[in-house]
Amino acid sequence: MIKTRFTEMFGIKHPIVQGGMQWVGRAELASAVSNAGALGILTGLTQPTPEDLSKEIKRCREMTDQPFGVNLTILPTLVPRPYGEYMDAIVQSGVKIVETAGNNPKPFLPKFKEAGIKVIHKCTSVRHGISAEKAGVDAISMDGFECAGHPGEDDVPNLVLLPAAANVIKIPMLASGGFADARGLVAALALGCEGINMGTRFMATREAPIHQKVKETIVSSDERATSLIFRTMRNTSRVYGNSVAKKAIEMETEGKTIQEIGPIVSGAKGRVVYETGDMEHGVWSAGTCMGLIHDIPTCKELVERIVGEAEAMIKGRLSQAVAA
Ligand code: NAD
Repeated sequence: MIKTRFTEMFGIKHPIVQGGMQWVGRAELASAVSNAGALGILTGLTQPTPEDLSKEIKRCREMTDQPFGVNLTILPTLVPRPYGEYMDAIVQSGVKIVETAGNNPKPFLPKFKEAGIKVIHKCTSVRHGISAEKAGVDAISMDGFECAGHPGEDDVPNLVLLPAAANVIKIPMLASGGFADARGLVAALALGCEGINMGTRFMATREAPIHQKVKETIVSSDERATSLIFRTMRNTSRVYGNSVAKKAIEMETEGKTIQEIGPIVSGAKGRVVYETGDMEHGVWSAGTCMGLIHDIPTCKELVERIVGEAEAMIKGRLSQAVAA
């Protein structure tokens, strides 16, 4: 067992959290991760309305008696989403863990705190981590440049970002972006974190509710297979480097606006990729850690393997490296 302040604070067995992934973070995956002793996360905006989110939370509760959380990502969307109503649905559902991401969580904290909800704030820079800590969140999930989805605009990879953040942030911190195996977990602990957040790695599991072809594409891809879109809009997103991503970058270079690019990069099209396995239908988030993913285990096999190998590494090779 690897026990940290994060596992203690959130009442989980293993210091591993599943990232809140659009279209992927549904009850099937979140419950499987929580049943494996890690922390599963439902993605709020994957549900079309706040009422649908309430139903999904209820469904997840029927699939696990372990703690799970809900991700609320506050970023620009093509169609405006009622973030306040999603927040109310989360509060009323009785869920006790929320992951906020994409923007300052401050406006959401009073209601979450009042309801006894613990908040993990996902951010991509030291300064945003400090401000979230000051605002009163319980933990930080620090997302380095390696990550899938939105890495921010500073382009600092985790080997520097995490210890720089650990130097100044006092609340428990998760390492996010590029983590997929035991070596990553041990490194995260060494860099000052108290656990890891994994998204892409959990997509390639048996329980992830996405097409088998997507999982096989992750397994067969290496660390160079991603592209960064929306750089020109300061809303950078790391996605699988398919023909649609390349077309979007070409359109951005030509100075096209989000309204013009929107039809090819919309989440609605990305969703079809996950449902049908047509890998060129739209853009879909994927991280550089694809280069570390070589199989499609169950969530339980994955979590137990990572923790077991990490323990063995700490007790074995690393301890032995210290001269007597
Ligand atoms: P969507 O269909 O509304 O938008 C598609 C993409 O265009 C998103 O990445 C969005 O951020 C971007 N976008 C929309 N309007 C924009 C604008 N005015 N300026 C710049 N970029 C703009 O998105 P969706 O697939 O329904 O996803 C819903 C939300 O979840 C989005 O905010 C999306 O970014 C977010 N998301 C987050 C992650 C993550 O890494 N946490 C992964 C996938 C999606």
